[in-house]
Amino acid sequence: MIQLVRGFKDILPDEIGIWNQIEQTAADLLNLFGFKEIRLPILEKTELFQRSIGELTDIVEKEMYTFPGSRDEMLTLRPEATASVVRAYIQQRLYAVDPIQKLFTMGPMFRKERPQKGRYRQFYQINAEVFGIASPLMDAQLIIILSSLFMRLNISGLCVHINSLGCPECRPAFKKALMETFAAVSQELCADCQRRREKNPLRVLDCKVPSCRQAIASAPAMTDFLCHACDTHFEAVKAALGQQGIAYVVNPWLVRGLDYYCRTAFEIQTSQLGAQNAVAGGGRYDGLVQTLGGPSVPAVGFAVGVDRLVDIMLQQGKCVESVPDIFIAPLGDAAVQKAFEWSCALSKAGVRTEADFTGKNLKALMKRADRLHARFVLMVGERELEEKAVVVRDMESKKQISVPIEKMVEEIQKLARNGFNQ
Ligand code: AMP
Repeated sequence: MIQLVRGFKDILPDEIGIWNQIEQTAADLLNLFGFKEIRLPILEKTELFQRSIGELTDIVEKEMYTFPGSRDEMLTLRPEATASVVRAYIQQRLYAVDPIQKLFTMGPMFRKERPQKGRYRQFYQINAEVFGIASPLMDAQLIIILSSLFMRLNISGLCVHINSLGCPECRPAFKKALMETFAAVSQELCADCQRRREKNPLRVLDCKVPSCRQAIASAPAMTDFLCHACDTHFEAVKAALGQQGIAYVVNPWLVRGLDYYCRTAFEIQTSQLGAQNAVAGGGRYDGLVQTLGGPSVPAVGFAVGVDRLVDIMLQQGKCVESVPDIFIAPLGDAAVQKAFEWSCALSKAGVRTEADFTGKNLKALMKRADRLHARFVLMVGERELEEKAVVVRDMESKKQISVPIEKMVEEIQKLARNGFNQ
C-alpha cells in the first residue's frame, strides 16, 4: 500500500466540521473588521521567500520545498503567506487603487520541519495582512481580532505575548549588544547559531536547542534599546490592548523566525499543546513592501495555525458533527423510488437528508439511521404509499407522527427547523 508522505496528513470527514467552523468563523469576523479575501497560488519563485523571510533563517536555509521550474527559475511551495500577499499587492498594483488594503487568505503552507505533534510539513494558516496603516492601534486591533476569534471558538487558556523588535534606527545597537553577548558564550551555541551569531544574532534568540536557550538567558532585551518613536509605538499598542481588556505579557525573547518584522511582534501561546505552543503569530513589517520592489508602505499582519486550533478543539471535546436532519427508510421497490425522489426534493429545499436506496429490512435501516445520528427517520412502505401519508419518528423522544405525502416537503422543512413541539 502506498502511504502518505511523512509529515503530511489526511483531514478526515470526522474532523472537517471543526475545520469549517474555524475557517467560517474567521472569515465572518475578518469581514466584520473590514478585511477582504484574497486567494493566491501555493507556488512562488524561490527568490520571493529568500528576499523576504531572510537567507539566514531556518525556513530559507533548510525548510523549503524547492525545485527547478521551467527555464532557469527555482520554485518553492510557499512556507508562509505574507510574502505572497505582498507580491500580489505590488504586482496587481492594489496600492494604486487604495494604499490601505486589509486582506485575508487561508490555505496550506509547506515547511520541511521535523514532524511531531502539532508540527506538520503541510499545515494550514489563516492570514490577515493590513497595508498602509502605520498606527499602533492597527497592531492592537489585530491582536483583538485574534482574541475575539478564540473567544468565538470557545478556546480558553491562551496567553498573548508581545515584544518590540525596534526599527532600522535602533536595532543595530541591540544587534551589537547581542553579538557581544553571544561572542562570550559562543562555545555553548549550536552549529547554526555559531554561524548566525555574527550576521543575524536575532535568530539565535529563536533557537530551541537547550544549550542555546541557556546561553541566551543573559542576552539583553530589545525593549531596552528602543528609539523614542519605537518606544512610543510600543506603549500605544500596550495601552490599546489594556483599554480593550486584553491581558498580555511582554516577552523580550519573542523575535519570530522571520527577518522582515519591525516594531511590534506578537504570538498567542497555549499551554495545551506541549512544545508546539504557538497558535498564532504576527507583527509589523513596514519595510517589506519596499524591499520587494513596491512603494514605501507600512504593513502589519498575523497568521493563525489552523491545525493547532483543531487539535485544541478536539482535546477540549468540541466536536462539530454534521448529522442528517432526516433519514428516509423505504421498504419495497416503490418506496425506494419515492425515497430517491424525496431525498432530491428535501435536500434541494435545504433539509439535510440521507436515504437508503439498497432495499434493506427495517431493522438494518434503523441501525443505519442510528449510526448517522439522524434526528428524524421517515418510514415509508406499501401501506404508507396507499394511505398517502408517511410516518416520521423523532429518534430522541421516539415519538411518531403521520405526515401527508402531499405536504411532505414543507412539513419536514418545519420539523427540521423547529422539531416536533412547534
Ligand atoms: P509562523 O509563520 O512561523 O509565524 O507561524 C504562524 C503560526 O502557524 C504558528 O503560530 C503555528 O500555529 C502555525 N505553524 C507554523 N509552523 C507550523 C507547522 N510546521 N505545523 C503546524 N502549524 C504550524
